[in-house]
Amino acid sequence: MPTDPKGQWNYHPDLPLQDPSIFRWPPNAGFLARWFWKNWLSLSERVMLLLIAIAAWTWLYPSLEASKTLAIGWIAQTYLINLALMFGAAGGLHWYFYMRNGQGLTLKFDARDQARNNRAFRFSDQVKDNMFFTMVSGVAVWTLFQVATLWLMANGYVPTITLGSNPVQFIALIILMPVWSAFHFYWAHRVLHQPFMYTRFHTLHHRSINIGPWSGMSMHPVEHLLYFTTICIHWLVASHPIHVIYHLLYQGPGAAMTHTGYEDLLVRDKRRLALGTFYHTLHHRFFECNYGNQEMPWDRWFGTFHDGSDEATTVTRARKKRMYSK
Ligand SMILES: [Zn+2]
Ligand SMILES: [Zn+2]
Repeated sequence: MPTDPKGQWNYHPDLPLQDPSIFRWPPNAGFLARWFWKNWLSLSERVMLLLIAIAAWTWLYPSLEASKTLAIGWIAQTYLINLALMFGAAGGLHWYFYMRNGQGLTLKFDARDQARNNRAFRFSDQVKDNMFFTMVSGVAVWTLFQVATLWLMANGYVPTITLGSNPVQFIALIILMPVWSAFHFYWAHRVLHQPFMYTRFHTLHHRSINIGPWSGMSMHPVEHLLYFTTICIHWLVASHPIHVIYHLLYQGPGAAMTHTGYEDLLVRDKRRLALGTFYHTLHHRFFECNYGNQEMPWDRWFGTFHDGSDEATTVTRARKKRMYSK
């Protein structure tokens, strides 16, 4: 296991960070096959979220028929299901890793616990602060985008497909969604890091320097609105409600998974589920780097990539200074 001689990290993956995306250059058939196996043919985060999306659409959420007219009943039903899914994902991970201490410090990036008795946080407690913004604003904005999109679909105001009518597009949209989300996230996040936007809205997400599952969706309501505009792609590209729900779960509960603070979930000492990334942990520690995620190499292409090295930290600090000296 790599260790960090300067004690900056409890654990980090091999450095410098490699590009794990399908855009890695030059293309390599073996690498692409491993990527597909890891992401789609084993129980990965995206397979789990897709299965939950299909089950929730089939058995829990109101039908398209019910979504035709805006009414309190089906909207409240959607909101309560979303509250339960968010609480289950973030609460379950928090319980396992931070209350039960199920994995100790193994594969945890930062040895420190989340902040307590710190006035920077609402209720002087990071976890309570993060829960508040996730459950109050986060789930409400998530539901808003879900309700709007299903209403548009139910009334035929946006184009829709089914697995029967367009099987290739149906499957392609599932596989390509994280790529679209990565594109949207990089640019929306760069906008949020402009000093005007950062000081007003995005600083709230960055209160959590040492992240936990509840930090993922802990954002200012304005940031939630911007973050969830990724869903508007379904207003343009013909899709199915399962695509919309899968996309929303990827943005909501998925953010709890990527902010766990641990790289992987271990079961009997084997890495069974990829969770947080060192990539985004670096963003929470050094701010002006790694605005995107590892689905697409936007940070590499635009020179904002932090590979985990001390040199990258120096470059990042210089960038921050330049941005705020204007
Ligand atoms: Zn974050
Ligand atoms: Zn940020």
